[in-house]
Amino acid sequence: AAKGSGRGQFQFFSREMNAATHERLLLESRLWQALEQQEFELYLQPQIDLASGAVIGAEALLRWHHPELGTVGPDRFIPIAEESGLILPLGEWVLQRAIGLLGHWQTIGLGHLRLAVNLSARQCQGHALPAQLDRLLAATGADPELLELEITESAAMQDPEHSRALLQQLRARGISVAIDDFGTGYSSLSYLKLFELDRIKIDRGFVKDIETDPNDAAIVSATIGLAHALGLEVIAEGVETAAQADFLRAHRCDEAQGYLFARPMPAADFERAAGATLDGPARECLVLS
Ligand code: C2E
Ligand code: MG
Ligand code: MG
Ligand code: MG
Repeated sequence: AAKGSGRGQFQFFSREMNAATHERLLLESRLWQALEQQEFELYLQPQIDLASGAVIGAEALLRWHHPELGTVGPDRFIPIAEESGLILPLGEWVLQRAIGLLGHWQTIGLGHLRLAVNLSARQCQGHALPAQLDRLLAATGADPELLELEITESAAMQDPEHSRALLQQLRARGISVAIDDFGTGYSSLSYLKLFELDRIKIDRGFVKDIETDPNDAAIVSATIGLAHALGLEVIAEGVETAAQADFLRAHRCDEAQGYLFARPMPAADFERAAGATLDGPARECLVLS
């Protein structure tokens, strides 16, 4: 009987694995083509100033419109792109599109908005990034002060000395740097004094149970205090309820981002919503569809 159930289990797992492998193969086989076929799109999620409720900018979040699988989120294909090396051309496409948007915003009255872009660990290695950014900024006339680059602490800590020099080069150009998913990378806090930073992004994992879990509440309020004491700003991600926003506002968190305010959306929708908020309160105008 034990043998029988063992075999059944093996078959169960192997069927699951086949489904996962099948999806992976579907994604992997088209990934390189997808860039040429223009199947990628940058969605934008508004970032809100908690004190005033105003939209101060957005985070660019990559989507893949796969012909068979529909719209696929980055958690499913970024790891494959990292392994296959496509992340470098894909990351460059993201930067080109994002910096292009910043340039466009200057011409449509949205020249005050900041745009945050996620960097993968691979993009931070080597020495290509600063020249790439210089080229894209010069080509579009975008203001580097309105570009923010997000890097996770684990990516930054793969080679701390290299990252320190890279972040210094970015800051010398006026580009902002945010540490993404703060507190999830199992690294010590010592990098906070090693790196020149502008902002800390509190991970959704700490925000989720902020009202019910005293440990999460303590971690979030201590992180806000730590950031401010170091002269850094703080943004909380994954804010879904008014109570979470109230807690963050009461603890002087600077900015927030999450489904409470708006989900990631196509650039045209963001531009319409952000344009509309020029004559009204942010929240009301960002309740979409
Ligand atoms: P991230 O940078 O931490 O982005 C935040 C993620 O949380 C996004 O998931 C966003 O859609 C989601 N989110 C925002 N507000 C809420 C909320 O209130 N509730 C919940 N449940 N989720 C919320 P998404 O778009 O699936 O992106 C996942 C990750 O993929 C990102 O995490 C980032 O690490 C990576 N990523 C996205 N775009 C890019 C890119 O262009 N390049 C690179 N290298 N990585 C990217
Ligand atoms: Mg991010
Ligand atoms: Mg994050
Ligand atoms: Mg996160």
